[in-house]
Amino acid sequence: MDIWEKVASLAKRRGFIFPGSEIYGGLAGTWDYGPLGAELKRNIKNEFWKSMVQERSDVVGLDASIIMSPKVWEASGHLTSFSDPLVECKKCHHRFRADQLTEKKCPDCGGELTEPKQFNLMVETYLGVIEGEKLKTYLRGEITQGVHVNFKNVLSSTRVKIPFGVAQIGKAFRNEITPGGFTFRSREFEQMELQYYVRPDLKESMKTFEDWKKERMAWYVALGMKKENLRFKEHAKDELAHYAKAAFDIEYHAEGEWKEMEGIHHRGDWDVRRHQEFSGEDMAYFDEETKEKFLPYIIETSGGVDRATLFFLMDAYTEEKIPNSKFQIPNKSQNPNNEAREETRIVLKLHPKLAPYKAAVFPLLANKPDLVNVARKIYDDLKKDFMVAWDDRGNIGKRYRAQDEAGTPFCVTVDFDSLEHGDVTVRDRDTMKQERVKVEALEAYLKEKIK
Ligand code: ATP
Repeated sequence: MDIWEKVASLAKRRGFIFPGSEIYGGLAGTWDYGPLGAELKRNIKNEFWKSMVQERSDVVGLDASIIMSPKVWEASGHLTSFSDPLVECKKCHHRFRADQLTEKKCPDCGGELTEPKQFNLMVETYLGVIEGEKLKTYLRGEITQGVHVNFKNVLSSTRVKIPFGVAQIGKAFRNEITPGGFTFRSREFEQMELQYYVRPDLKESMKTFEDWKKERMAWYVALGMKKENLRFKEHAKDELAHYAKAAFDIEYHAEGEWKEMEGIHHRGDWDVRRHQEFSGEDMAYFDEETKEKFLPYIIETSGGVDRATLFFLMDAYTEEKIPNSKFQIPNKSQNPNNEAREETRIVLKLHPKLAPYKAAVFPLLANKPDLVNVARKIYDDLKKDFMVAWDDRGNIGKRYRAQDEAGTPFCVTVDFDSLEHGDVTVRDRDTMKQERVKVEALEAYLKEKIK
């Protein structure tokens, strides 16, 4: 199994990510986040918001509508240029993106391919109730435009001054020709973005562009992604999007393959200029100090929440050989069943800030009310501060294994000594070391470790 299959299998087994509409045979390019996945994804989004909005004084947040006037997409160029070259095999009729093929024949059956046709990625939908009068519109293909159409609203309702940014997190939809690579290319996905408005000065704006490149790379590293698995990839001039002056991707190294996770783009004044042209509204910024009026340049950082979730999972996924707990006989001649001396532990070494559960609480035995009551009280108290799991099934070894795969940084066990001494065993996910901690000190102990 390669890392993609291993992560997909763990994600399904532990409730991170399920195939969309699975009981109906699935729907290509859609995914559902299970109990653990919903937490992980929420933590990623919260960390994004914290670093991009809460901790900055030059960025505000926005939450725009998914469905917008179709004129928005005319102005942004999506209706004419947001397309991929589609080819179809004349024999098996499978469809492919021409720019992703290495040879000019069908990768499935070797058949001859049609000439490439431009295929628009926008997902269409219709609003209204009267047949024939319905308005054809689109589910947004990127969250970006919701910010730019509100440029003037943000200016008039807040105290921001250029340079400033607007951050947003939300769903986007694309009729991808070849969804796949687990959640990597989905038809419904979430983006986390910043649109940063600066003066229309190329040199100055390129400096801001460089600053945001650094900032965004540092964000992934601070949340535990291994540096060696990250790199910048510059877009060649002929790869640049129709509006872009410069573009770099942050790529993640997924077992031999570098894959795009986030794009940092210099959009020039494309969006505001086009919306001014198409809406007739004056989109210019007036600088009170210099008395200048101008259309700002835009630096964008555009990350995929699903891709970040997938790559945080991949990066955290670890297989470790540990001594087999079942195998007690040191000498092979006394080991008639030839039990392996080692077993493989699968552990998600997620940064505690991202881990779905920060701690799990276990009573050593489920049928001893004294133990259960103390453990319940600890669980209920800790739950007020962060996500905590409860497990009283099977033996402790099994519970540890489950929490390792969930990425839970700490397991707290209430045993018979706890009843006497008022302390618990805290086991560390990464080192597997155990420590006794007084119950009254537990909350502070965990808070210190997970911050
Ligand atoms: P690709 O070249 O992989 O199709 P893109 O360059 O079209 O991606 P952008 O339009 O720059 O992507 O979107 C910004 C971010 O949104 C991407 O870096 C990615 O993280 C995310 N994203 C884009 N398309 C998808 C998709 N189909 N599924 C999941 N995430 C996506």
